[in-house]
Amino acid sequence: MATEYKVSQYNVPYKRDNTYFLYNSHTGAFVKLNATYRNYLKDLNSGKEIPNTALEEFTRAGFVVPKDRDELGLYLYQHNLYNYGNTNLHLTVATTLQCNFRCPYCYEEHVDEYLEGEKEEDLKKFIQQNTNNKESLSVTWYGGEPLLMKKLIANVSEYAIDLCEKKGMEYSATMVTNGYLLDRKTALELVEKYKLSHVQITLDGGPETHNLTRILRNGKGTFDKILSNIKEIYDLVDIAIRVNVSKENVEDVYKLFPILLKEGLNKKLTVYFAPVGASTEACQSISETCLVTREFSKWETSLIEYADSIGFEMGDLLPVNRGGGICQAVDNSAYVVDAAGDLFKCWHEVGNKKLRVGTLKDGITNYDRLTKWMNWQLPKKCTTCNIMPLCKGRCPDLSLEKEDFECDQLKYNIKDRLHRYYTRNPISKQTIEKDLIAEEV
Ligand code: SF4
Ligand code: SF4
Repeated sequence: MATEYKVSQYNVPYKRDNTYFLYNSHTGAFVKLNATYRNYLKDLNSGKEIPNTALEEFTRAGFVVPKDRDELGLYLYQHNLYNYGNTNLHLTVATTLQCNFRCPYCYEEHVDEYLEGEKEEDLKKFIQQNTNNKESLSVTWYGGEPLLMKKLIANVSEYAIDLCEKKGMEYSATMVTNGYLLDRKTALELVEKYKLSHVQITLDGGPETHNLTRILRNGKGTFDKILSNIKEIYDLVDIAIRVNVSKENVEDVYKLFPILLKEGLNKKLTVYFAPVGASTEACQSISETCLVTREFSKWETSLIEYADSIGFEMGDLLPVNRGGGICQAVDNSAYVVDAAGDLFKCWHEVGNKKLRVGTLKDGITNYDRLTKWMNWQLPKKCTTCNIMPLCKGRCPDLSLEKEDFECDQLKYNIKDRLHRYYTRNPISKQTIEKDLIAEEV
């Protein structure tokens, strides 16, 4: 019996200036559709046959799949394989919850707890015991401000790198830091000795608003110092600038791009935007300044367009399904370690003993907490979403909290993102389009 076909549930069709485009969020195929091929898709949908050559082209790109293909089931299977079969141990280590900054929206309590002494030894033992049968170890240094504990980072990195060498494993490290203490000397040591390859640093717009929210304990602004550090280290390590966007600072964020250009940082780092969300306790108290996602998605598009217009390189930003899992919180081979030596699954929970899944010393002690994360299910609304392979359900913490959690901004601006990619990289130059639907539009 001949195979029957259907249109993929991950197709994202859109129209701009009387031209039709089709993208598939699972395969990443992206084409311009001419009238003939558009009709073929309509025909397929209504059960009619279409020419074999068109069928072959559509199936090769993933726009059309066999009728009995359970696309969601396949995704969930891959997701489970990843979550239970990951050969990498990933540790996010909050070296301390203390911080040299006092940002008003921060959800962490800055207690004087440090990962040191016996807890440092427990961490090393934990790494040793949990890397059996692993191929690699990756660490994200986190806080509070991780660089308040440089000695701990040095000691544990040395131990872990040595252990990985002995076990024939790969080792890699990244850091989430406010950037204030990351001068060239510090970065050089972290990169050369401790294999740091990537840092995420936050700027809250231009100096005007950044200096109101990213403040030292004494209330002083930090923009100039962070910028000067970035200029000192961009040749050593990959830098991603996270720009927190809220109603309060959104206008000022535009001012950041001319500054980065003037300081010679174009193409030297990547910039991305994050909404200051009302999902955290701290933010609930300032929720009038938080942007809901739909609104944020518009700001994001507009900020990217502005960067483009003045020549600041943001990259292609083509949405891509990178495989893997949704988040370490539901990965059986990932933990967040806090300064008290407690183990968590989600970054948002550090410091809250009631929510820990265990401790460095005793391993998993709270299976109720662990299974809450590991049995996380893709939320109902995501099972029919055509960009699910990209967003993957956004954030388990959000969906475990409430069913009607907000979608990722991509849900609202993916067509703008795709079209921007198209205008930067005309499809006529792309293989898939040449193969697929290179007829006159
Ligand atoms: S569950 Fe959400 S908040 Fe927690 S670590 Fe994952 S993405 Fe972050
Ligand atoms: S959170 Fe929203 S955008 Fe993301 S997969 Fe679910 S329904 Fe889609």
